[in-house]
Amino acid sequence: MNFDFTEEQKLFADAVRRFAQAHLADGILARAHNPRFPFDVARLMSQQGLMGITVPAADGGQGGTLMDAIIAIEQVAAVCPRSSDVVQFGNFGPIRTFSEYATPAQKAKWLPDLLAGRAVMSLGISEPQAGSAATDLVTSAKPDGAHYVVNGTKLFSTFSPDANVFLVYVRYGPGVGGIGSVIVERGTPGFNIGPPSTFMSSEEWCELNFDDCRIPAENVLLGPGGFKKQIAGFNVERLGNASRALAFGRYCFNAAREYVATRKQFGRPLCEFQGLQWKFADMALKLEGAQLLLYRAVVNADRGLPSAYETSVAKAACNLAGFEIAHESLQAMGATGYSRDSIVEWCLRRTRGWMIAGGSVEILKNRIAEHVFERRFDQRGRQAAAAE
Ligand SMILES: Cc1cc2nc3c(=O)[nH]c(=O)nc-3n(C[C@H](O)[C@H](O)[C@H](O)COP(=O)(O)OP(=O)(O)OC[C@H]3O[C@@H](n4cnc5c(N)ncnc54)[C@H](O)[C@@H]3O)c2cc1C
Repeated sequence: MNFDFTEEQKLFADAVRRFAQAHLADGILARAHNPRFPFDVARLMSQQGLMGITVPAADGGQGGTLMDAIIAIEQVAAVCPRSSDVVQFGNFGPIRTFSEYATPAQKAKWLPDLLAGRAVMSLGISEPQAGSAATDLVTSAKPDGAHYVVNGTKLFSTFSPDANVFLVYVRYGPGVGGIGSVIVERGTPGFNIGPPSTFMSSEEWCELNFDDCRIPAENVLLGPGGFKKQIAGFNVERLGNASRALAFGRYCFNAAREYVATRKQFGRPLCEFQGLQWKFADMALKLEGAQLLLYRAVVNADRGLPSAYETSVAKAACNLAGFEIAHESLQAMGATGYSRDSIVEWCLRRTRGWMIAGGSVEILKNRIAEHVFERRFDQRGRQAAAAE
């Protein structure tokens, strides 16, 4: 067991940090408060080799490891938290599932623009009646000659106002085995994108309506039975989500540490008051613990598929730590931290969302409990019915 980065990883981390300081340190607040996908940052990152880090070189990616991609998120977020969204969408988001399962023709069609930062892909899983119970989704895809006809509604898709292409979970038939996914391009007849709604974090999403939307059969990413593969890809997305949550917490922690080390009240720096020292000690415990859980899941994922259990533990720990640390850091910075001129309040709002998105903390705890008790707890209560 070794808790250090390799020399290669250290060099990569340094290079990403230098890139971020040179190109992203200015304008971090304006970038954070702008809900649009920062295509300018995406193009810069593409030139720097930070898009498609884990995508094989043969497909136009960098052929790196998941840990490299995590390092990129951490180093970028340490300078400009908002820009780490680009690392997420260029490496961990729907692009990751897409690049894993797409046909050569699908990759040739969509990957070049996604990896160059000219396009972004949005993910459509959630529906009005299918949130935590994602397998209740009803958006259907029915074959019709050389096409599929898609009908249904998706909600909350991140970057849906900006996305050119959408990875949409659909139902071909009944049950979990009937679920798969298709690719739908913006502008396809019958695909209607509603006006943007705003989350607490200022992120925007649009309702996506499919009304007899005909897509070519070549746009099927995964057919019936694809759900398990999609969730395996989604576990990678969860690790990116976890690393951003923790990196945002670390950003707030550093800002607050600087504040209490220099700000004087009652004639002394604030860090000399034990009430504040213990806040920082508690935050350090949360940061260190969640960081180790994240790295364990990532290193083991690099040896194969991410483990659902380790991913759940890492995401729950990082989501909770990120939010709690942002919250305590804001408190330690008083009205300065609460001000919109401070990025800490924005980080607090963002980290709050990750406790819901991509597998809420409660759903992750359900998964952890299954590991603890070594049995599956069907949330629909079906075992109870069978036992009667
Ligand atoms: C910032 C953000 C970004 C998002 N991005 C996307 C995206 O890109 N694409 C997409 O498809 N969706 C996205 N979502 C939606 C997200 O996936 C859902 O919000 C999530 O799955 C929860 O569903 P819900 O909001 O309908 O809550 P509900 O399912 O209605 O749950 C409400 C509450 O009950 C809890 N709960 C539900 N079931 C259980 C249970 N069995 N045991 C214990 N507690 C339970 C939940 O944890 C939650 O706290 C995003 C959401 C957010 C906040």
